[in-house]
Amino acid sequence: MQSIGFIGLGNMGAPMAWNIHKAGYRLSVYNRTPARAQPFRDAGMEVAATPAALAADADVVVIMVTDPAALHGVIAGTDGVVDGLKAGTTVINMSTVSPDASLEAAGIVQEHGGRFVDAPVSGTVKPAEEGTLVVLAGGAREDLEAVAPLLETMGRQVVYCGGIGDATRMKLVLNLLLGGMMELLAEALALGKGFGLDGAAILNAVAAGPLGAPLYAMKGEAMLAGRFASQFPVELMFKDMNLVLQAAGQLAVPLPATAAVRESFNAARALGYGDEDMAAVIQVFNKLSG
Ligand code: NAD
Repeated sequence: MQSIGFIGLGNMGAPMAWNIHKAGYRLSVYNRTPARAQPFRDAGMEVAATPAALAADADVVVIMVTDPAALHGVIAGTDGVVDGLKAGTTVINMSTVSPDASLEAAGIVQEHGGRFVDAPVSGTVKPAEEGTLVVLAGGAREDLEAVAPLLETMGRQVVYCGGIGDATRMKLVLNLLLGGMMELLAEALALGKGFGLDGAAILNAVAAGPLGAPLYAMKGEAMLAGRFASQFPVELMFKDMNLVLQAAGQLAVPLPATAAVRESFNAARALGYGDEDMAAVIQVFNKLSG
């Protein structure tokens, strides 16, 4: 059985790491804030002091951190992964970053004799806990095949997207849609409220036809109930809209609606909802239209 090192025990990373452990892999962990690693230490797992120490003892290193800067830091910063990397070790980035950040991380890992797989995920905390995430995977075919059983401990489906960077590109495509759906759902509910329509009746009407989507049902109910306990926070959605717009800008692909969506999430941050679930984007319209 491969020895796995896991970096980033946040809201997503911690349940994903538990699923690797439950599948029987030898797991060691690292987190910038050591307190988050304590439950893993209590369960008998090795807690590394640095990413380098973790990598020195791992056949595969899995990374689930916030953003491109965090990914770069854990890989190439002081006592980063590459300082301890053994030749042939596979580094899997599962964080949502930019295609450029993914390619840069891959280059650094490969320069140090490692292999790299790009594997961001679709799905939030509950699917992470249940091991039912959708894993988007990119990289060399033999590297992907070697880590497929590991990825399957975290996801119900592994979707092969192409080479390194392609899974990250696919993730940005999906999150463009997710951000847009959330923002327009909030606008639709705001209009419905303005009309004096019943919110639950709106969701039922949406569900009855071709617009019916599990996301609208789930997040529509949360919006109506004002239930904003974070699954996927506004702050991370804002980060992802920026990643989408930055990548699209480099390609001269205009995304005017996504730019507006980004600003609605920015407005939610300005109102103090940055740490609340993305459903809190409805509060922008509640505040504006009363
Ligand atoms: P989180 O904020 O709960 O956890 C972030 C983790 O990154 C923490 O373990 C933190 O210690 C670590 N980290 C941040 N900066 C660091 C640095 N400079 N050095 C070392 N470690 C650092 O976030 P999360 O919800 O677990 O999300 C993690 C990633 O997964 C993000 O890229 C996010 O966009 C993506 N994602 C999240 C969800 C979700 O529903 N929350 C869903 C899909 C994808």
